[in-house]
Amino acid sequence: METVRTRFAPSPTGYLHIGGLRTALYAWLFARKNGGKFILRIEDTDLERYVDGAVEIIYRTLRETGLNYDEGPDVGGDYGPYIQSERRDIYLKYAHKLVEQGDAYYCFCTKERLEEIHKNGATKYDKHCLSLSKEEVARRIAAGEKYVIRQNIPEEGSSTYHDMVFGDITVENKDLEDNILIKSDGMPTYNFANVIDDHLMGINYVIRGVEYLSSTPKYNLLYKAFGWEIPNYMHLQPIMRDATHKLSKRHGDASYEDFIKKGYLKEAIVNYIALLGWSPKDNREKFTLDEMKELFSVSGLSKSASIFDENKMRWLNSCYVKELSDEQFYDYALPFYEKLDYLKGYDLRYLSSLLKNRCEIFSDVQKLTAFLTEFDGFDLDLFVNAKWKTDRALAKKMIPDLIELCENSFDSLHDALVNYAEKSGCKKGQVLWIFRIAITGAQNTPGGATEMATLLGKDEVVRRLKTSLSRL
Ligand code: GLU
Repeated sequence: METVRTRFAPSPTGYLHIGGLRTALYAWLFARKNGGKFILRIEDTDLERYVDGAVEIIYRTLRETGLNYDEGPDVGGDYGPYIQSERRDIYLKYAHKLVEQGDAYYCFCTKERLEEIHKNGATKYDKHCLSLSKEEVARRIAAGEKYVIRQNIPEEGSSTYHDMVFGDITVENKDLEDNILIKSDGMPTYNFANVIDDHLMGINYVIRGVEYLSSTPKYNLLYKAFGWEIPNYMHLQPIMRDATHKLSKRHGDASYEDFIKKGYLKEAIVNYIALLGWSPKDNREKFTLDEMKELFSVSGLSKSASIFDENKMRWLNSCYVKELSDEQFYDYALPFYEKLDYLKGYDLRYLSSLLKNRCEIFSDVQKLTAFLTEFDGFDLDLFVNAKWKTDRALAKKMIPDLIELCENSFDSLHDALVNYAEKSGCKKGQVLWIFRIAITGAQNTPGGATEMATLLGKDEVVRRLKTSLSRL
């Protein structure tokens, strides 16, 4: 079998979108699973959409996520250049070849004429310039007229191909438009460059978004015109925000970097996006990139769109967070701690050991530690707990004893609280509840009563107990 060669071909238009990263992941998995090569190609021929720095983001993201590529602009390879804007002459050469063969033609139609024919009901270009003589074309080009090169699609017949996800796809040629292959600025369109590059780069498995499924017959006509072998295709369904909207950059939160900023682990992001359009036979949900490589199969690719569920990704992330050592948790959480001034002076390593089991994503640090700074006005009804049968009155009665207990036995606080419960005839749970609320003013805290006391330190604990008492 010939070596499998897949590629990821992003356009550098900003941050790497989650959908793009998933395409890269599947192309990488398919190559690695089959002992093949994974190639990165930058599709930057749409100069208007080009964003500075976007190429570096692509390199960085692929590297960070472990989707290493064997060939690409910054790693080299035998089939370069791997940046389309550096391949301009190649596309022109092949476009001219098509013109000579009659499979493409020069078109001088103005924007106004095209608008006019569409206004009059045309749904596609009317092949107006196909009938121009060679001489007229040469004369108009020499006169400096602007032109594009269009594909000459047969008006009869149909084109069929096999997609590895969707099966056989047939399109009537009469429904296909004579698309532009070379634009008036001399740059190729995607419709042309993808064919030239995939062929010249030896790509035999084209894995990309479903939006190209119905244009693929057009691309296949180009392969045929050149006498080239048509590659295998895998088109992937989109990732949706909800039933009717695609996940998009415009709605924010859809890029890899955004999720990293929110405090997701890269392993969890990659794991979650793998599940958006693919599932292993055993329906397992948590796996490393290496495990995924073993499990990946085309039969697990979905024919329907997937809905992006951030709560599920949060849950998956929390599974990864729990597996971190306290030290690793601290390292990841540090940039999030540093944003919170009120954490200065606390034992952040101790805090990390507590937060590790309660943080789903690192930005949860803020919510889970807010009690350290927001305390004075907390809702006194938090003392009311149906399970433990506690209320404000019980808190008011108990807190003076708790103050005394802290002043005398802070170093053995847990035992002291248990003894106190026995002596006073209260349940342990009641004492711990009232104590924890009285020193944190928060329903959810990163640890239990004595852990919170350890974090706050004796003086602050006593101060807080007194403040709570004074409000009751
Ligand atoms: N540059 C295209 C895009 O970003 C790539 C499509 C493809 O993979 O062929 O949508």
